[in-house]
Amino acid sequence: MMGLLEVVDLTVEFPTRRGVLRALDRVSFSIDTGEVLGVVGESGAGKSLTGAAIVGLLERPGRIASGEIRLDGQRIDNLEAEPLRRIRGRRIGTIFQDPLTTLNPLYTIGRQLTETMQTHLRLSGNQARDRAIGWLERVGIPAAAQRFGAYPHEFSGGQRQRVVIALALCAEPALVIADEPTTALDVSVQAQIITLLKDLTRDHGTAVMLVTHDMGVIAETADRVAVMYAGRIAEIGPVAAVVRHPAHPYTEGLMASIPALEHRVDRLRQIDGAMPRLDAIPTGCRFHPRCPHAFDRCLAQRPELLPAGATQAACWLHADG
Ligand code: SF4
Repeated sequence: MMGLLEVVDLTVEFPTRRGVLRALDRVSFSIDTGEVLGVVGESGAGKSLTGAAIVGLLERPGRIASGEIRLDGQRIDNLEAEPLRRIRGRRIGTIFQDPLTTLNPLYTIGRQLTETMQTHLRLSGNQARDRAIGWLERVGIPAAAQRFGAYPHEFSGGQRQRVVIALALCAEPALVIADEPTTALDVSVQAQIITLLKDLTRDHGTAVMLVTHDMGVIAETADRVAVMYAGRIAEIGPVAAVVRHPAHPYTEGLMASIPALEHRVDRLRQIDGAMPRLDAIPTGCRFHPRCPHAFDRCLAQRPELLPAGATQAACWLHADG
């Protein structure tokens, strides 16, 4: 069965004066209706770039060099700006780290919600207003009817992110791309926002691509997880399998960053070294300079995703299945 979102061999490049930098290199994955796919990796691994490419918001001069992105079977990677903008509002909702990049400071939140709904759904002014208040209630804004006329700066950071979630979901999109939705918030508010996002998307059968550097958030929220390293997917699979039995040496090291897994600490180790820069990607497996298991083949040949227990890992250790 086809996924709701299909990303096939997505390659994103940045032309520079010193040559073309390949920031995403043949990234493939899918997300089904109602599924939460976590995308995790260090900063610069390509996870936010993947989200930006899907919604057509790659920063110039970045461009999709090859590959396809399909939503419900329709290609969306080659659309003109206007049809893509419509899809972005109607079929794909977005939640970014800083609510202030999404909310317009000059308009009341009520106006922003009703305009979004009326752009994408057939609703009268009164219907849109009722629904907007309903959404504010659902995302936990107290006294929603009174706050309808308030401006973004009149809300706390956590409440603003709740409003952004309402804004992302109010046009009933099939897919939500949430990029570090809780990173800018107080720790005490983070769990509430994640729970809210999870509950609402589950109730509405919305697919979610949750981009974060925080494996703890993924472990709590996602059904499956894609681990990215230096512009490629290192491992992808059901979240429980990836957390408990990571198949890629990089994932194994990454698991050390989940405090909740303290009981496994004896088996974990921090990974020495740093992710390579885009202009200095190693040959073969791009993780090989940091990998404690690297052998000859790793330096010469690039591994594609291979079945590895319940997950798939781009690692030659799994070459024999
Ligand atoms: Fe390590 Fe080789 Fe596997 Fe890469 S392919 S992760 S270098 S063992």
